[in-house]
Amino acid sequence: MGKIRKIGVLTSGGDSPGMNAAIRAVVRTAIYEGREVMGIMCGYQGMIDADFKPLYANSVSDIIQRGGTILKTARCEEFRSPEGRAKAYGNLKGAGIDGVVVIGGDGSFTGARLFNEEYDIPFVGIPGTIDNDIFGTDYTIGYDTALNTVVEAVDKIRDTASAHNRMFFVEVMGAEAGFIALYSGIASGAEAIIIPEIKGEERNLKAMIAGGNTRKKSSNIIIVAEGDEGGGAFAIAESVKEDFKEYDIRVSVLGHLQRGGSPSAIDRVNASRLGHAAVEALIDDQKSVMVGISNGEITLVPFRRAVKLHKDVNRNLIELAKILSV
Ligand code: ATP
Repeated sequence: MGKIRKIGVLTSGGDSPGMNAAIRAVVRTAIYEGREVMGIMCGYQGMIDADFKPLYANSVSDIIQRGGTILKTARCEEFRSPEGRAKAYGNLKGAGIDGVVVIGGDGSFTGARLFNEEYDIPFVGIPGTIDNDIFGTDYTIGYDTALNTVVEAVDKIRDTASAHNRMFFVEVMGAEAGFIALYSGIASGAEAIIIPEIKGEERNLKAMIAGGNTRKKSSNIIIVAEGDEGGGAFAIAESVKEDFKEYDIRVSVLGHLQRGGSPSAIDRVNASRLGHAAVEALIDDQKSVMVGISNGEITLVPFRRAVKLHKDVNRNLIELAKILSV
Protein backbone atom coordinates (compact mmCIF):
# COMPACT_ATOMS: atom_id res chain seq x y z
CA MET A 1 0.00 0.00 0.00
CA GLY A 2 2.92 2.42 0.59
CA LYS A 3 2.89 5.15 3.17
CA ILE A 4 0.01 7.22 1.78
CA ARG A 5 -3.14 5.63 3.17
CA LYS A 6 -5.29 8.62 3.95
CA ILE A 7 -5.34 11.71 1.74
CA GLY A 8 -6.59 15.15 2.78
CA VAL A 9 -7.95 17.57 0.19
CA LEU A 10 -8.66 21.29 0.52
CA THR A 11 -9.44 24.36 -1.56
CA SER A 12 -7.66 27.60 -0.66
CA GLY A 13 -7.47 31.24 -1.77
CA GLY A 14 -10.00 32.55 -4.27
CA ASP A 15 -12.57 30.02 -5.50
CA SER A 16 -12.82 29.12 -9.16
CA PRO A 17 -15.29 27.13 -11.26
CA GLY A 18 -14.05 23.57 -11.65
CA MET A 19 -12.69 23.19 -8.11
CA ASN A 20 -15.54 20.75 -7.38
CA ALA A 21 -14.64 18.69 -10.45
CA ALA A 22 -11.07 18.51 -9.10
CA ILE A 23 -12.26 17.47 -5.62
CA ARG A 24 -14.38 14.77 -7.21
CA ALA A 25 -11.41 13.47 -9.20
CA VAL A 26 -9.19 13.43 -6.11
CA VAL A 27 -11.77 11.52 -4.07
CA ARG A 28 -12.66 9.01 -6.76
CA THR A 29 -9.02 8.34 -7.75
CA ALA A 30 -8.00 7.83 -4.13
CA ILE A 31 -10.86 5.39 -3.58
CA TYR A 32 -9.99 3.59 -6.83
CA GLU A 33 -6.46 3.24 -5.46
CA GLY A 34 -7.76 1.85 -2.15
CA ARG A 35 -7.06 4.98 -0.11
CA GLU A 36 -9.24 6.95 2.29
CA VAL A 37 -10.02 10.63 1.83
CA MET A 38 -10.63 13.46 4.29
CA GLY A 39 -12.09 16.78 3.21
CA ILE A 40 -10.38 19.69 4.96
CA MET A 41 -12.85 22.59 5.30
CA CYS A 42 -12.13 26.27 4.56
CA GLY A 43 -8.57 25.98 3.27
CA TYR A 44 -5.72 26.00 5.77
CA GLN A 45 -8.12 27.23 8.45
CA GLY A 46 -9.63 23.75 8.53
CA MET A 47 -6.21 22.26 9.29
CA ILE A 48 -5.78 24.63 12.21
CA ASP A 49 -9.30 24.01 13.54
CA ALA A 50 -9.20 20.25 12.79
CA ASP A 51 -12.31 20.73 10.65
CA PHE A 52 -12.15 17.46 8.70
CA LYS A 53 -14.82 15.25 7.21
CA PRO A 54 -14.48 11.87 5.55
CA LEU A 55 -15.35 11.83 1.85
CA TYR A 56 -16.69 8.79 0.02
CA ALA A 57 -17.41 8.15 -3.65
CA ASN A 58 -20.99 9.34 -3.22
CA SER A 59 -19.94 12.45 -1.25
CA VAL A 60 -18.85 13.91 -4.58
CA SER A 61 -21.86 12.85 -6.65
CA ASP A 62 -23.61 15.59 -8.60
CA ILE A 63 -20.90 18.25 -8.10
CA ILE A 64 -18.89 18.12 -11.35
CA GLN A 65 -21.18 20.74 -12.87
CA ARG A 66 -21.28 23.09 -9.89
CA GLY A 67 -19.29 26.29 -9.39
CA GLY A 68 -17.79 27.22 -6.00
CA THR A 69 -16.34 24.52 -3.76
CA ILE A 70 -18.12 22.05 -1.49
CA LEU A 71 -15.13 22.25 0.88
CA LYS A 72 -15.42 26.07 1.12
CA THR A 73 -12.33 28.18 0.79
CA ALA A 74 -10.76 30.83 2.97
CA ARG A 75 -7.72 32.96 3.50
CA CYS A 76 -5.99 31.93 6.70
CA GLU A 77 -3.53 34.29 8.41
CA GLU A 78 -2.56 31.79 11.10
CA PHE A 79 -1.05 29.37 8.59
CA ARG A 80 1.53 32.04 7.70
CA SER A 81 3.13 31.65 11.14
CA PRO A 82 5.29 28.69 12.27
CA GLU A 83 2.94 28.25 15.27
CA GLY A 84 -0.07 28.00 12.96
CA ARG A 85 1.62 25.40 10.78
CA ALA A 86 2.69 23.43 13.88
CA LYS A 87 -0.94 23.30 14.96
CA ALA A 88 -1.95 22.20 11.46
CA TYR A 89 0.65 19.41 11.52
CA GLY A 90 -0.56 18.18 14.90
CA ASN A 91 -4.15 18.03 13.66
CA LEU A 92 -3.23 16.27 10.40
CA LYS A 93 -1.24 13.69 12.36
CA GLY A 94 -4.09 13.29 14.83
CA ALA A 95 -6.51 12.54 11.97
CA GLY A 96 -4.08 10.07 10.37
CA ILE A 97 -3.71 12.12 7.19
CA ASP A 98 -0.53 11.07 5.33
CA GLY A 99 -0.64 13.41 2.33
CA VAL A 100 -2.56 16.50 1.23
CA VAL A 101 -3.84 17.82 -2.10
CA VAL A 102 -4.06 21.62 -2.11
CA ILE A 103 -6.24 23.20 -4.79
CA GLY A 104 -5.42 26.91 -4.98
CA GLY A 105 -3.20 29.66 -6.30
CA ASP A 106 0.39 30.68 -5.71
CA GLY A 107 -0.22 31.93 -2.16
CA SER A 108 -1.60 28.51 -1.25
CA PHE A 109 1.45 26.86 -2.83
CA THR A 110 3.81 29.16 -0.92
CA GLY A 111 2.21 27.96 2.32
CA ALA A 112 2.37 24.34 1.15
CA ARG A 113 6.03 24.67 0.26
CA LEU A 114 6.92 26.12 3.66
CA PHE A 115 5.00 23.34 5.37
CA ASN A 116 6.89 20.70 3.37
CA GLU A 117 10.21 22.23 4.36
CA GLU A 118 9.20 21.88 8.01
CA TYR A 119 7.14 18.68 8.20
CA ASP A 120 7.01 15.19 6.75
CA ILE A 121 3.44 15.14 5.43
CA PRO A 122 3.74 15.63 1.63
CA PHE A 123 1.64 18.27 -0.14
CA VAL A 124 0.81 18.23 -3.86
CA GLY A 125 -0.86 21.23 -5.52
CA ILE A 126 -3.48 21.67 -8.23
CA PRO A 127 -3.61 25.11 -9.88
CA GLY A 128 -7.08 26.51 -9.20
CA THR A 129 -7.53 30.19 -9.99
CA ILE A 130 -9.40 32.06 -12.69
CA ASP A 131 -6.36 34.28 -13.34
CA ASN A 132 -4.27 31.62 -15.14
CA ASP A 133 -1.16 33.28 -13.70
CA ILE A 134 0.75 30.26 -12.39
CA PHE A 135 4.11 29.41 -13.88
CA GLY A 136 4.65 25.86 -15.15
CA THR A 137 1.14 25.16 -16.39
CA ASP A 138 -0.58 26.38 -19.53
CA TYR A 139 -3.82 26.28 -17.73
CA THR A 140 -5.41 26.82 -14.31
CA ILE A 141 -8.81 25.49 -13.26
CA GLY A 142 -11.53 28.09 -13.70
CA TYR A 143 -9.80 30.22 -16.28
CA ASP A 144 -11.71 28.85 -19.26
CA THR A 145 -15.08 29.30 -17.56
CA ALA A 146 -14.25 32.83 -16.41
CA LEU A 147 -13.14 33.70 -19.92
CA ASN A 148 -16.41 32.46 -21.40
CA THR A 149 -18.39 34.36 -18.78
CA VAL A 150 -16.56 37.57 -19.65
CA VAL A 151 -17.02 37.10 -23.39
CA GLU A 152 -20.74 36.50 -22.97
CA ALA A 153 -21.05 39.68 -20.88
CA VAL A 154 -18.99 41.77 -23.30
CA ASP A 155 -21.09 40.57 -26.25
CA LYS A 156 -24.15 41.92 -24.43
CA ILE A 157 -22.42 45.19 -23.66
CA ARG A 158 -21.48 45.44 -27.33
CA ASP A 159 -25.15 45.32 -28.33
CA THR A 160 -26.08 48.27 -26.19
CA ALA A 161 -22.84 50.13 -26.99
CA SER A 162 -23.60 49.88 -30.72
CA ALA A 163 -27.17 51.04 -30.26
CA HIS A 164 -25.93 54.29 -28.70
CA ASN A 165 -22.54 54.77 -30.39
CA ARG A 166 -20.88 54.53 -27.01
CA MET A 167 -17.41 53.81 -25.79
CA PHE A 168 -17.44 51.23 -23.00
CA PHE A 169 -14.65 50.50 -20.55
CA VAL A 170 -15.18 46.99 -19.22
CA GLU A 171 -13.16 46.02 -16.16
CA VAL A 172 -12.34 42.35 -15.76
CA MET A 173 -10.47 40.41 -13.06
CA GLY A 174 -6.71 39.92 -13.12
CA ALA A 175 -5.09 42.09 -10.47
CA GLU A 176 -1.58 41.12 -11.48
CA ALA A 177 -2.09 39.26 -14.73
CA GLY A 178 -3.79 40.19 -17.96
CA PHE A 179 -4.71 36.71 -19.23
CA ILE A 180 -8.47 37.15 -18.83
CA ALA A 181 -8.35 40.66 -20.31
CA LEU A 182 -6.18 39.70 -23.26
CA TYR A 183 -8.05 36.55 -24.26
CA SER A 184 -11.52 37.95 -23.65
CA GLY A 185 -10.51 41.10 -25.54
CA ILE A 186 -9.50 39.11 -28.58
CA ALA A 187 -12.54 36.84 -28.33
CA SER A 188 -14.95 39.76 -28.12
CA GLY A 189 -13.26 41.93 -30.75
CA ALA A 190 -12.31 44.68 -28.30
CA GLU A 191 -10.92 47.89 -29.79
CA ALA A 192 -8.25 48.07 -27.08
CA ILE A 193 -7.01 45.96 -24.18
CA ILE A 194 -5.24 47.40 -21.16
CA ILE A 195 -3.27 44.91 -19.07
CA PRO A 196 -0.73 45.26 -16.25
CA GLU A 197 2.03 43.55 -18.26
CA ILE A 198 2.18 46.43 -20.76
CA LYS A 199 3.12 49.84 -19.44
CA GLY A 200 1.92 53.07 -21.04
CA GLU A 201 -1.21 51.59 -22.62
CA GLU A 202 -3.37 54.47 -21.43
CA ARG A 203 -1.18 56.83 -23.44
CA ASN A 204 -1.39 54.54 -26.46
CA LEU A 205 -5.15 54.39 -26.11
CA LYS A 206 -5.38 58.17 -26.17
CA ALA A 207 -3.13 58.28 -29.23
CA MET A 208 -5.40 55.75 -30.92
CA ILE A 209 -8.50 57.81 -30.14
CA ALA A 210 -6.78 61.00 -31.30
CA GLY A 211 -5.82 59.21 -34.53
CA GLY A 212 -9.51 58.99 -35.37
CA ASN A 213 -9.80 55.22 -35.62
CA THR A 214 -12.42 54.96 -32.89
CA ARG A 215 -14.65 57.58 -34.57
CA LYS A 216 -15.22 55.31 -37.54
CA LYS A 217 -16.78 52.70 -35.30
CA SER A 218 -20.35 52.45 -34.08
CA SER A 219 -19.12 51.19 -30.73
CA ASN A 220 -15.82 50.90 -28.89
CA ILE A 221 -15.07 48.34 -26.23
CA ILE A 222 -11.95 48.79 -24.12
CA ILE A 223 -11.15 45.87 -21.82
CA VAL A 224 -9.25 46.85 -18.68
CA ALA A 225 -7.63 44.39 -16.27
CA GLU A 226 -8.44 45.47 -12.70
CA GLY A 227 -4.83 45.69 -11.67
CA ASP A 228 -3.76 48.06 -14.39
CA GLU A 229 -1.37 50.86 -13.43
CA GLY A 230 -3.95 53.47 -14.42
CA GLY A 231 -6.12 52.39 -11.50
CA GLY A 232 -8.86 50.39 -13.14
CA ALA A 233 -11.61 51.17 -15.62
CA PHE A 234 -13.16 54.15 -13.79
CA ALA A 235 -9.87 56.03 -13.52
CA ILE A 236 -8.93 55.41 -17.15
CA ALA A 237 -12.40 56.31 -18.41
CA GLU A 238 -12.28 59.52 -16.41
CA SER A 239 -8.94 60.47 -17.86
CA VAL A 240 -10.05 59.68 -21.45
CA LYS A 241 -13.27 61.66 -20.93
CA GLU A 242 -11.26 64.71 -19.92
CA ASP A 243 -9.30 64.66 -23.17
CA PHE A 244 -12.15 63.60 -25.47
CA LYS A 245 -15.30 65.28 -24.25
CA GLU A 246 -17.28 64.43 -27.39
CA TYR A 247 -17.36 60.71 -26.55
CA ASP A 248 -20.26 59.13 -24.70
CA ILE A 249 -18.27 56.98 -22.26
CA ARG A 250 -19.59 54.32 -19.89
CA VAL A 251 -17.94 51.92 -17.47
CA SER A 252 -18.95 48.40 -16.55
CA VAL A 253 -17.16 46.44 -13.82
CA LEU A 254 -17.90 42.74 -14.16
CA GLY A 255 -16.68 41.82 -10.67
CA HIS A 256 -17.41 38.57 -8.90
CA LEU A 257 -19.78 37.15 -11.48
CA GLN A 258 -16.54 36.09 -13.21
CA ARG A 259 -15.85 33.59 -10.43
CA GLY A 260 -19.21 31.87 -10.48
CA GLY A 261 -21.21 29.61 -12.73
CA SER A 262 -21.12 26.08 -13.97
CA PRO A 263 -17.62 25.10 -15.16
CA SER A 264 -17.03 24.76 -18.90
CA ALA A 265 -16.37 21.35 -20.41
CA ILE A 266 -12.67 22.23 -20.74
CA ASP A 267 -12.47 23.13 -17.04
CA ARG A 268 -14.21 19.92 -16.03
CA VAL A 269 -11.93 17.74 -18.13
CA ASN A 270 -8.74 19.47 -17.02
CA ALA A 271 -9.83 19.47 -13.37
CA SER A 272 -10.51 15.74 -13.67
CA ARG A 273 -7.07 15.11 -15.16
CA LEU A 274 -5.30 17.25 -12.57
CA GLY A 275 -7.20 15.72 -9.63
CA HIS A 276 -6.28 12.24 -10.80
CA ALA A 277 -2.64 13.24 -11.39
CA ALA A 278 -2.31 14.83 -7.94
CA VAL A 279 -3.35 11.62 -6.16
CA GLU A 280 -1.06 9.51 -8.35
CA ALA A 281 1.80 11.91 -7.54
CA LEU A 282 1.22 11.54 -3.79
CA ILE A 283 1.11 7.75 -4.10
CA ASP A 284 4.38 7.95 -6.07
CA ASP A 285 5.98 9.71 -3.07
CA GLN A 286 6.10 13.14 -4.65
CA LYS A 287 6.00 16.19 -2.39
CA SER A 288 6.14 19.94 -2.69
CA VAL A 289 5.09 19.84 -6.34
CA MET A 290 2.21 21.16 -8.39
CA VAL A 291 0.61 19.11 -11.13
CA GLY A 292 0.14 21.14 -14.30
CA ILE A 293 -0.74 20.76 -17.96
CA SER A 294 1.87 21.73 -20.52
CA ASN A 295 1.35 21.20 -24.24
CA GLY A 296 -1.56 18.94 -23.40
CA GLU A 297 0.45 16.67 -21.09
CA ILE A 298 0.46 16.38 -17.31
CA THR A 299 3.64 17.76 -15.74
CA LEU A 300 5.05 18.00 -12.21
CA VAL A 301 6.43 21.38 -11.25
CA PRO A 302 8.20 22.04 -7.93
CA PHE A 303 6.29 24.58 -5.81
CA ARG A 304 9.55 26.52 -5.65
CA ARG A 305 9.39 27.14 -9.41
CA ALA A 306 5.63 27.54 -9.66
CA VAL A 307 5.57 30.37 -7.11
CA LYS A 308 8.85 32.10 -7.89
CA LEU A 309 8.84 32.25 -11.66
CA HIS A 310 6.67 34.62 -13.61
CA LYS A 311 4.31 33.43 -16.30
CA ASP A 312 4.10 35.99 -19.06
CA VAL A 313 1.24 36.58 -21.45
CA ASN A 314 1.88 35.73 -25.10
CA ARG A 315 3.17 39.00 -26.53
CA ASN A 316 2.17 37.97 -30.06
CA LEU A 317 -1.45 38.08 -28.95
CA ILE A 318 -1.12 41.68 -27.85
CA GLU A 319 0.07 42.53 -31.34
CA LEU A 320 -2.73 40.45 -32.85
CA ALA A 321 -5.37 42.34 -30.88
CA LYS A 322 -3.97 45.64 -32.20
CA ILE A 323 -3.91 44.45 -35.81
CA LEU A 324 -7.47 43.17 -35.66
CA SER A 325 -8.88 46.39 -34.26
CA VAL A 326 -7.88 48.64 -37.19
P1 ATP B 1 -5.72 33.30 -5.61
O1 ATP B 1 -4.74 33.26 -6.75
O2 ATP B 1 -7.08 32.91 -6.02
O3 ATP B 1 -5.66 34.56 -4.80
P2 ATP B 1 -4.00 32.10 -3.65
O4 ATP B 1 -3.76 30.70 -3.27
O5 ATP B 1 -2.84 32.84 -4.27
O6 ATP B 1 -5.28 32.12 -4.60
P3 ATP B 1 -3.78 33.64 -1.18
O7 ATP B 1 -4.83 34.38 -0.44
O8 ATP B 1 -2.59 34.38 -1.65
O9 ATP B 1 -4.56 32.92 -2.41
O10 ATP B 1 -3.28 32.42 -0.28
C1 ATP B 1 -4.19 31.49 0.28
C2 ATP B 1 -3.72 31.07 1.64
O11 ATP B 1 -2.44 30.45 1.55
C3 ATP B 1 -3.52 32.20 2.64
O12 ATP B 1 -4.71 32.62 3.25
C4 ATP B 1 -2.58 31.56 3.65
O13 ATP B 1 -3.29 30.70 4.52
C5 ATP B 1 -1.69 30.70 2.74
N1 ATP B 1 -0.47 31.47 2.40
C6 ATP B 1 -0.31 32.42 1.47
N2 ATP B 1 0.93 32.93 1.49
C7 ATP B 1 1.58 32.29 2.50
C8 ATP B 1 2.90 32.37 3.05
N3 ATP B 1 3.81 33.23 2.58
N4 ATP B 1 3.19 31.54 4.08
C9 ATP B 1 2.29 30.68 4.57
N5 ATP B 1 1.04 30.56 4.10
C10 ATP B 1 0.68 31.35 3.08
